[in-house]
Amino acid sequence: MPLPPYHERTGNAHEAQEASVKISGKTKVIGLFGYPVEHSLSPCMHNAAFAYLNMDYCYVTFPVRPDLLADAVQSIRALRLGGVNITIPHKEKVIPFLDGVSEEVSFIGAVNTVVNNNGFLRGYNTDGRGFMESLSEVGIRCEGRRVLIIGAGGACRAVGYYLSQKVAHLRIFDIDEQRREKVVKDLGSLHGNVTSLKKLDTLHDVDIVINATPLGLKDTDPSPFNTDLLSEPMIVCDLIYRDTALLNAASEKGCRVLNGLGMLLHQGVLAFEIWTGIRPPAEIMRKALQTALP
Ligand code: NAP
Repeated sequence: MPLPPYHERTGNAHEAQEASVKISGKTKVIGLFGYPVEHSLSPCMHNAAFAYLNMDYCYVTFPVRPDLLADAVQSIRALRLGGVNITIPHKEKVIPFLDGVSEEVSFIGAVNTVVNNNGFLRGYNTDGRGFMESLSEVGIRCEGRRVLIIGAGGACRAVGYYLSQKVAHLRIFDIDEQRREKVVKDLGSLHGNVTSLKKLDTLHDVDIVINATPLGLKDTDPSPFNTDLLSEPMIVCDLIYRDTALLNAASEKGCRVLNGLGMLLHQGVLAFEIWTGIRPPAEIMRKALQTALP
């Protein structure tokens, strides 16, 4: 049975499942460049939105070997792709091959979204705003709070760029001292409220803890720090998009927890808008993600 027109739809899971992209001679292609990319949940959320909106677009993954990144970026122009997402390990290395970047990318130094405007490739980073949206949609306010980010990689820079505009105090911890100090210096230059945590042996003056390390990606990964330090009413967030050892331990201690699924969703919503100029149906994308989760 064909789907009802967009304005009559209820946004239920059945409709999301029922819709599928249809390929025509005019279909605009959006890609994902990464290595590897097979595990990605992005195709399911973007294709669900394209289908739901009856847009002649499709989203596909491209496993781009690191030594072929320049060629792959050139192919965005040659093949007239509408744009791409960029993921590990290309987020930083892609920048020199682009024609321009947004203000947040100039600061963060990493790109996750590229739009192709008649051959002019502009890079954006929607990870940080995606994280902020994921907090606000569940009513977590960070204004005036004391926040600790563990892990000082690209995700920390993206999230820290937006968090530092709101929080009272942002602290950064990383096992790599040089990387930690560099991020603290850069983020601290924005609003003067960022300091370094040299040893993670207490959390007594922290309201929100954020795991921005890859620890938790594997089922067998331990928590990135000693969870005995956690206590109510701390809020514990993980950028990994499912519940991790850290979040499970935090829940047991009565902390409020948030995984990275909302961040994944909202960085995607923002990217979709950058490529198409259309605000996509976030609930359809969320349901598609939940259905596809391993
Ligand atoms: P990254 O560049 O590898 O940075 C992680 C940093 O954490 C590295 O400096 C790493 O140091 C450090 N680290 C590792 N274990 C640690 C520990 N126990 N304590 C303190 N620091 C530790 O990774 P990233 O690109 O920033 O990504 C971080 C996480 O965010 C990943 O899990 C990624 O999947 C997630 N993420 C989620 C979304 C989303 O949409 N939900 C978006 C972006 C990223 P070493 O390099 O020395 O190990």
